[in-house]
Amino acid sequence: MKNIIEKLYLHDQEVLEVYEQWAESKGDIETLIKAQKDLDERLEQVRLKKQSIEMEIKNIELDLGGFEAEIKKCEKQKMSVTSEKSLHLIEDKIAKVSEKKDDCEMLWLEKSENLSPQIKMIEVLESERKLKIQEKENSIPKMNEDLIQSQKELKSLIDLRLDLMDGLSESLVNSYEKLRIKNLFQPVIFHLDESGCPKCGMHIRNVDFDMIRYHHEAIPCETCGTIIYWCD
Ligand SMILES: [Zn+2]
Repeated sequence: MKNIIEKLYLHDQEVLEVYEQWAESKGDIETLIKAQKDLDERLEQVRLKKQSIEMEIKNIELDLGGFEAEIKKCEKQKMSVTSEKSLHLIEDKIAKVSEKKDDCEMLWLEKSENLSPQIKMIEVLESERKLKIQEKENSIPKMNEDLIQSQKELKSLIDLRLDLMDGLSESLVNSYEKLRIKNLFQPVIFHLDESGCPKCGMHIRNVDFDMIRYHHEAIPCETCGTIIYWCD
């Protein structure tokens, strides 16, 4: 019995190792895909920001054109006024509109200055994206191959399990299967530890402890079901 459990324990370790390789390959692929997705999102945000600044600049330019036309019109009117009073009124108006035009020009400058960092950022992100796509194209086929390889290995290892359990008592087989369902790739067989169940830490009955330690039995923990055996 002990030999079977020991073989099963070692086999579980092997399964766990291959599973970790598989999970790592999968994680690497996901990280690469996510990195490109993040870049795409950032690029989209900066592009939208650039678009909104461009729109603001366009609106400012429209206002500017309006003010310029108004000033031109006033200048023309100035030529044909007959009274001093009307002349003052028109000059006042020109001054006011010119002031607005100056503010508008300041705003235009400010917005244009905001635009160039966005354009630069887009260039940087686009070249980063190009590199990321290249990296993805270069490495994903190999990563997928590794993933499929680990998957195949994992499957053939799991298929072996049934043969390894040959000769194990029915109740232990049941305990093992039950544990497996709940812990697909986690260890479910542990070595006996003086301080209690190695998995959940609960006390092991003295009678069970003696059976495991001195009679080389494999016994499930009363609390969590983990199969415990003695390893020399
Ligand atoms: Zn336990």
